[in-house]
Amino acid sequence: MNLINPFEVVQEQLDEVMRILQIKSDVMQILRTPMREIHVSIPVRMDNGDLKVFHGFRVQYNNALGPCKGGIRFHPEETIDTIRALAAWMTWKTACMGLPLGGAKGGVICNPKEMSSNELERLARGYIDKIWQLIGPDQDIPAPDVYTNPQVMAWMMDEYSKIIGKNQFGVITGKPIMMGGSQGREDATARGGMYVLKEASKYLGLDLSKSTMAIQGFGNAGYYAALLAEKMFGIKVLAISDSKGGIYNQNGINIKALKEHKEKTGHVNGFSGAKDITNEELLLLDVDILVPSALEEVITKNNANEIKAKIILELANGPTTPEADKILFKKGIHLIPDFLANAGGVTVSYFEMVQNFYMYYWDEDLVYKRLNHRMSEAYKSVLKAAREYNISMRQAAYVVAIKRIIEVMKLRGWW
Ligand code: NAD
Repeated sequence: MNLINPFEVVQEQLDEVMRILQIKSDVMQILRTPMREIHVSIPVRMDNGDLKVFHGFRVQYNNALGPCKGGIRFHPEETIDTIRALAAWMTWKTACMGLPLGGAKGGVICNPKEMSSNELERLARGYIDKIWQLIGPDQDIPAPDVYTNPQVMAWMMDEYSKIIGKNQFGVITGKPIMMGGSQGREDATARGGMYVLKEASKYLGLDLSKSTMAIQGFGNAGYYAALLAEKMFGIKVLAISDSKGGIYNQNGINIKALKEHKEKTGHVNGFSGAKDITNEELLLLDVDILVPSALEEVITKNNANEIKAKIILELANGPTTPEADKILFKKGIHLIPDFLANAGGVTVSYFEMVQNFYMYYWDEDLVYKRLNHRMSEAYKSVLKAAREYNISMRQAAYVVAIKRIIEVMKLRGWW
């Protein structure tokens, strides 16, 4: 669906920040390409006895602020350009959040849906066998991403530990809780989004307890966003969708009942008391808060003018096109951009690393308290930059991130 080369988008976004901050282009050269790229071939014995060679990548984009951090994707259409772009965005995201981390991303071209658990385990271990010298708690710390999960992270951590000859839990985050994972990781992305939403409501003078919300997507991000919006602030969630379409109820949706309905039927459509709507209709509803939590490029120049929400909280990555961004900014819609809005996940991953180092584990309340603090502070710095330069919140998030990286690169004598 996405024909734009995502790494070209990264380059364009950097050009824009360069113009806003009036940075010399030679300095920006450092940020235009990844610091290090690893391409590997991984031979795996399949269950039928055949040998198959998989290709994988790890891109360590920039480590000025600290060790690189980013997920590993197992995807049949993985490309190096996607991984490069995602690694760059991780670098900006950790910088914007004020975390002492750089950015990375990894991927293996494979179709996990067609592989047995044993084959996946051999692939996960094989990938670590090829990159282990270049990762580690003080170098690069992978995490789960598309089609990888806590079990895959457990195999990878185990393989790394076997190679170096001792347990090293802190080499990977997103592990099962029983082996060094953090409390609060499951709903961290949505919860982090709620904390920035609370700050935005203060800034805009919006009473969340009287607000309404529409959510596109009912997976990890969308489901927990719906649940927490109601539980934390009393927001009325009027509409929710998944890939098959959406539902609307002007009196609000019972989220837990909807989850049961989806588990039984496989979709949200046909939920009792609600009207079926399309995904496109959901985006244009008259609600206070719109939460895209599914796909990229759903808010475009074709529908941006008709959006009625006062706040857009981007839990999905890249739901808004650059043309739509300009329209929304002109309309005065307060858009909380993806790498701020959905940074709760990486922030709790960082907490996981810290707990692994200390070998002392926090309870849920402490994770929430520290997440709240990090998210609120990040929102405030982005808002400050948006007002200072009179730019959109997305541009401001870039400005905050790139400024921090450039300053540290200067201190380190890289330019
Ligand atoms: P998920 O796979 O758990 O859920 C995705 C949801 O999107 C599902 O409900 C699916 O039905 C729905 N969907 C798919 N195609 C759709 C379509 N055409 N129209 C409407 N809905 C559609 O994924 P997730 O983890 O919730 O991630 C969702 C988004 O949030 C992605 O952009 C992801 O990159 C981003 N994100 C997630 C996390 C996290 O920790 N889960 C962290 C950062 C960013």
